Amino acid sequence: MTAKLIHGYEVVIGFETHTQLATQSKIFSRAATAFGAEPNTQACAVDLALPGTLPVMNKKAVECAIKLGLALGSKIAPRSIFARKNYFYPDLPKGYQISQFEIPVVQGGEVSFFLGEEKKTVRLERAHLEEDAGKSLHEDFIGQSGIDLNRAGTPLLEIVTQPDMRSTEEAVAYARELHKIVTWIGICDGNMQEGSFRCDANVSVRKPGGPLGTRREIKNLNSFKNMQQAIDYEIRWQIEEIEDGRTIQQATVLFNPDTGETRSMRTKEDAADYRYFPDPDLPPLVVAQSWVDEVRAGMPELPRQRAARFVADYGLPEYDATTLTQSQDMASYFEAVAKACGQAKLASNWIMGEISRRLNTEEIGIADAKVGSAQLATLIGRISDGTISNNAARQVFETLWDGEASDVDAVIEAKGLKQMNDSGALEAIIDEVIAANPGNVEQYRAGKDKAFNALVGQVMKASKGKANPGQVNDLLKAKLA
Ligand code: ADP
Ligand code: MG
Repeated sequence: MTAKLIHGYEVVIGFETHTQLATQSKIFSRAATAFGAEPNTQACAVDLALPGTLPVMNKKAVECAIKLGLALGSKIAPRSIFARKNYFYPDLPKGYQISQFEIPVVQGGEVSFFLGEEKKTVRLERAHLEEDAGKSLHEDFIGQSGIDLNRAGTPLLEIVTQPDMRSTEEAVAYARELHKIVTWIGICDGNMQEGSFRCDANVSVRKPGGPLGTRREIKNLNSFKNMQQAIDYEIRWQIEEIEDGRTIQQATVLFNPDTGETRSMRTKEDAADYRYFPDPDLPPLVVAQSWVDEVRAGMPELPRQRAARFVADYGLPEYDATTLTQSQDMASYFEAVAKACGQAKLASNWIMGEISRRLNTEEIGIADAKVGSAQLATLIGRISDGTISNNAARQVFETLWDGEASDVDAVIEAKGLKQMNDSGALEAIIDEVIAANPGNVEQYRAGKDKAFNALVGQVMKASKGKANPGQVNDLLKAKLA
């Protein structure tokens, strides 16, 4: 496919995502990582960088990195190195951040997802372990700033892509897919508001076929909506700058959700400015193959594996399978319905249609769906055995969802929604309709399809909507032949 151009420019985007790892304690100390504690109550001597303290690697954090690598088809480095990234900031008492530089623990891999019906793949460069810094709290009302070191030493896995994305939509879809994976495998709680999943988008534009343009990095996009607005704004801004004859300076920019604009925060440092060097306090991180195998054995079936199984076992189109594996809850719900009613495609249609519509309007997850998998399976069963029409089923569904009743058959009975399956009664109605509409009959015989539809409509009306439209068609055609 040729790339989508905006005013003759091609967009290039690469992502760096800081995922906060769901460990109990910090990456190099025993202090707790829980969010929202009183300032400086969860920072121990190591996090405060008191002289003489030494970092000790948290095994759980490494396990999270291994899980991610396995999920994304990456190489897990048998031996990786921690490095010091040196810079000054009040919330960084050591004067350096422990990170990985030359040899990260996770190397390569890819993330695939659907954009509409089109499959996209974004290659990963790396994912490395590092510690988070503290936070500066600006108390404007007293004109002072404070330092909270609770977050210092929180384990992060920074996941870096190649500059493979070519539109805002693709970038947001990538971020959603990555978010799905890290929460699915349980290494991150995914809470974007609390900063557990922080995306930085590197954006540049170029003339197609030309060299890569200079990028600007948009920091800390804390919702998918902000992400989309920020990148769209940034693309327009860069194109205008270039069209006006200016050049783009490499910079770090912040998105302001109130104005919808990005603004330069600082010109970007180069790696050389950080004077990276191996941390002498930490030995190389060695990950034995046996450890990787052990972690692999405990991994859940991954979204794409489960999707592939949905295609193979249930005959679902790939698009449906991908949509239904948005979360483990959604996938399990589908499987429960499909197994109970034996109608996988109908189950998929209902979940992607009616169920998703209600979940979206009520902003709830499928775990809180008000029609359970057993109820939906029964409902689908009543459609496929011809008891009710699709339209009637939708009425039953609404009744169940709104909590007015819980038994499918009781609702069908109470609302009189049963289809007329008695062909004798139906034939009687058809005979009446034919007798009462000689004009339409004549037109139909003269080759007018519309007249036939009008007759079907009459029969449906006479049956109060309970006739099976397929059956009406067949019987009517036979009688008029
Ligand atoms: P740094 O050394 O500053 O970390 P990298 O080369 O590692 O920079 O790239 C950081 C991120 O920026 C990666 O996600 C990469 O894909 C992306 N990136 C690099 N060059 C460009 C570019 N010209 N346009 C858009 N994104 C880019
Ligand atoms: Mg880099």
